[in-house]
Amino acid sequence: MSLEPEMLKSLVKAAAEQVIASAAELTALDQAVGDGDHGANMKRGFEAVLGKLETIAAQRPDEALKTIGKTLVMTVGGASGPLYGSFFLAAGDALCNKQLPADLAEVFGSGVNAVSSRGRSKTGEKTMLDVLFPVWETLQSEAIGPDLIARVRTTAQEAAARTAPMQATKGRASYLGARSIGHVDPGARSSCVLLHAVCDTLEART
Ligand code: ADP
Ligand code: MG
Repeated sequence: MSLEPEMLKSLVKAAAEQVIASAAELTALDQAVGDGDHGANMKRGFEAVLGKLETIAAQRPDEALKTIGKTLVMTVGGASGPLYGSFFLAAGDALCNKQLPADLAEVFGSGVNAVSSRGRSKTGEKTMLDVLFPVWETLQSEAIGPDLIARVRTTAQEAAARTAPMQATKGRASYLGARSIGHVDPGARSSCVLLHAVCDTLEART
């Protein structure tokens, strides 16, 4: 796994296309616990990312992550825009003097910490962090290789499902109190979709 321009382009394209294809599902989840805009928010943001695909693919990976972050901050809106934006901006900053894949866990962790400080949130509050944090743990505990891709995929899938029985204490879903229980968190699901797109792309190329 190396971040050659072609691979970078494939990863960004797959992630954006999968999020766009999941818009209806994300909307339905956000209709259950929020205001129903998560699908449209993410679709708008990742369409903007796709629009800059050639620019992004021509950039150094750290700059590419920051371009993605800025684009998401400007276009996604809602609570998730600044949060996903912070993730990519911080990961880009962290990658500046790091190497992929060796420092993957550290780079990803910088993104997770940025979401947590921006959102003043932690795990167990029924948010995207309930997927991002366990995936970071998997990245820290497993060696880089084909098994890691499968582990990340399963971790993300199971972690998103585990948000269903949680009661939301952050974000719009927290207004519902106990009525937020029984639905997967939309942001947890969109994080899972993004991570699965990355796993699929890496698996197809290795
Ligand atoms: P909004 O809630 O403003 O309508 P979205 O619907 O686009 O924005 O995004 C909602 C998602 O954002 C939630 O499902 C949750 O995963 C995530 N989220 C909301 N607040 C926080 C927070 N403080 N920390 C982490 N994630 C959050
Ligand atoms: Mg919403």
